[in-house]
Amino acid sequence: MNRRDIRHYLKLSGKIILDGIYPRGCVVCGSPLEFDKRDHPERTHEECMEFLKPVDGPVCCKCGKKINADETRCSDCKGTERIFDGAVSVFEYNNAIKESIYRFKYKNKREYASAFAYMIAKNQKRIIEHWQPDVVIPVPMHPDKKKVRGYDQAEILAKETADIFRIRMDGDTLVRKKQTVPQKELSTKKRYMNLEGAFEARKSLKGKKVLLIDDIYTTGATFDSCAHVLKRAGAEKVYGASLCIGRVM
Ligand SMILES: [Zn+2]
Ligand SMILES: [Zn+2]
Repeated sequence: MNRRDIRHYLKLSGKIILDGIYPRGCVVCGSPLEFDKRDHPERTHEECMEFLKPVDGPVCCKCGKKINADETRCSDCKGTERIFDGAVSVFEYNNAIKESIYRFKYKNKREYASAFAYMIAKNQKRIIEHWQPDVVIPVPMHPDKKKVRGYDQAEILAKETADIFRIRMDGDTLVRKKQTVPQKELSTKKRYMNLEGAFEARKSLKGKKVLLIDDIYTTGATFDSCAHVLKRAGAEKVYGASLCIGRVM
């Protein structure tokens, strides 16, 4: 056995021991997965996959939200001059994804990040590769909030997504400097007002194409607000990808 084999063996046995103590749960229902499914990138029971509804059919050319066949933009994007250049999402917002994201955010299920990133890549690989982003940036959480929660779910999702696409993840340049009221409690107009001055770019992004990552997309106010400061910092293009899209949580 050479050193590489030993390292691999130790990593594998560590994983098996951890799996024994903390059996990995299904991303959708939370119950333990069969042993052979634990290493599957989706980390979801086959029957539970059915509860997740991928966004399919015609989608808004700007934000990726599902629309009727005779439209090109959703009602949100029709009335707003978007600052971000395009966005995609994977699942329609429903109870199954809502509960999964809840555990990911509040119940320390950070291990879901790799499954979610895999789902983003699997469903939106073509468009994301077409955008050719240079850097992946998470929609940042306020540092005080991160201190309390112990982690920033968008950041770990961004890291996993960046790894799949082999792009650099930058978690330092875009920061949230203002604690904001949760967007879910506000109307679209108030969402924009709530986010005014909330973000700041600390470094130049001159000529860069940025891929923003967030867990949920609702009206696009967050992506727009981030895109505004990123473009002021020199970003050439700002795209966005999220795990699910739809109505307010
Ligand atoms: Zn399940
Ligand atoms: Zn739209």
